[in-house]
Amino acid sequence: MKNLSILGSTGSIGVSTLEIVAAHPDRFQVAALSAGRNLELFARQIRQFEPRIAAVASPGDVPALKEMCAGLNVEVMGGIEGLIAAATAAETDMVVAAIVGAAGLVPTAAAIRSGKDIALANKETLVTAGHLFMNMIAKYGVRLYPVDSEHSAIFQSIEGHRSSDISKIILTASGGPFLNTTVEQLGRVTVREALNHPNWSMGRKITIDSATMMNKGLEVIEARWLFDVPVEKIDVNIHPQSIIHSMVEYVDGCVIAQLGTPDMKAPIAYALSYPERVATGVKPLDLTEFSGLTFHKPDLNKFHCLKLAFSAISEGESMPAVMNAANEIAVESFLEGGISFVQIAEVIERTMTAHQPHKLNSIEEVLLADQWGRNKARDISKGLAR
Ligand code: NAD
Ligand code: MG
Repeated sequence: MKNLSILGSTGSIGVSTLEIVAAHPDRFQVAALSAGRNLELFARQIRQFEPRIAAVASPGDVPALKEMCAGLNVEVMGGIEGLIAAATAAETDMVVAAIVGAAGLVPTAAAIRSGKDIALANKETLVTAGHLFMNMIAKYGVRLYPVDSEHSAIFQSIEGHRSSDISKIILTASGGPFLNTTVEQLGRVTVREALNHPNWSMGRKITIDSATMMNKGLEVIEARWLFDVPVEKIDVNIHPQSIIHSMVEYVDGCVIAQLGTPDMKAPIAYALSYPERVATGVKPLDLTEFSGLTFHKPDLNKFHCLKLAFSAISEGESMPAVMNAANEIAVESFLEGGISFVQIAEVIERTMTAHQPHKLNSIEEVLLADQWGRNKARDISKGLAR
């Protein structure tokens, strides 16, 4: 039996994770759940999965949640203390890090320090503090399993191989809803159009990141740390059908890819049950249903965010953390109607230009760089606001 703490249980990844848990009660048990604002769904999850700890983001929501959970044997907590208690619960074997954004940093660090294995969905953790997290993973002897579909594909494609034999990692990208939109048209796209992803159903922030292709930029940085490969060895291919989830090319010219129907339950289940595989209910893949799988290089002039991510990781030090913070603010501002779609890249670029990168020696220093990036990006967004 594996005991899980699921951080971000009411989100897209959290809900899919709980579907896997519900399908395999003989394998998985929920020790702790944590969520942000959706109290109704959270209370239903607590009733169904009976965690010992339930942590809600805002301490102000604790009384309401307690009332909704009256009669249940659960400790309701709030704020960062609650999140950390959920991440470090004594009986927990594995923490599913599925909070969105840099908010995932502190609880994931606490989980590693208390010896928990991590199923990592929160890519912002490795983007902002990759070197610190990979050092902590080694120091505390825990295992880190990728949940992101591309990284799960790479993880599955490198099993049994020496990392020195890898010549290239090829991340695939659907290209999002604006793959065939011209640069001129991009200036006029709406929030609703940007939220309409062709292949994946996800949270709002990552859906916008997919439309700008910042998501792929974050994933390049995530792959750089997870698999310890220099960024020069990471390529991005647009593959609109989202059937090949990523590939690894070896020095002998052989390429190993992982394929499947696009459904996050598959990579989530692999992270939870590794090295075994469990049934997920994901629709089996029938390649004869496809008239063709296509691939091409991304247009970096159109998807400016992807270019910014490559330059952030090349500059290194605090630049990726600042880029990530600026992206979170810019996406939020776009979703609230403050700035236009193309201004997301503008806010990030101007924030990065204003930043003098410096070494980050601790999570505290990462959080300071994150805060600096947020403040700067907020000022720039306000200046641009329509
Ligand atoms: P989401 O917005 O659907 O869910 C986020 C969850 O985190 C919710 O439960 C929310 O209540 C909680 N949360 C947010 N801020 C919080 C805070 N400050 N404290 C406590 N809880 C908080 O997001 P998602 O799409 O599930 O994505 C989660 C993470 O997984 C992101 O980092 C994303 O990039 C990554 N990811 C998602 C997918 C996907 O298919 N959705 C795929 C790959 C990677
Ligand atoms: Mg992904």
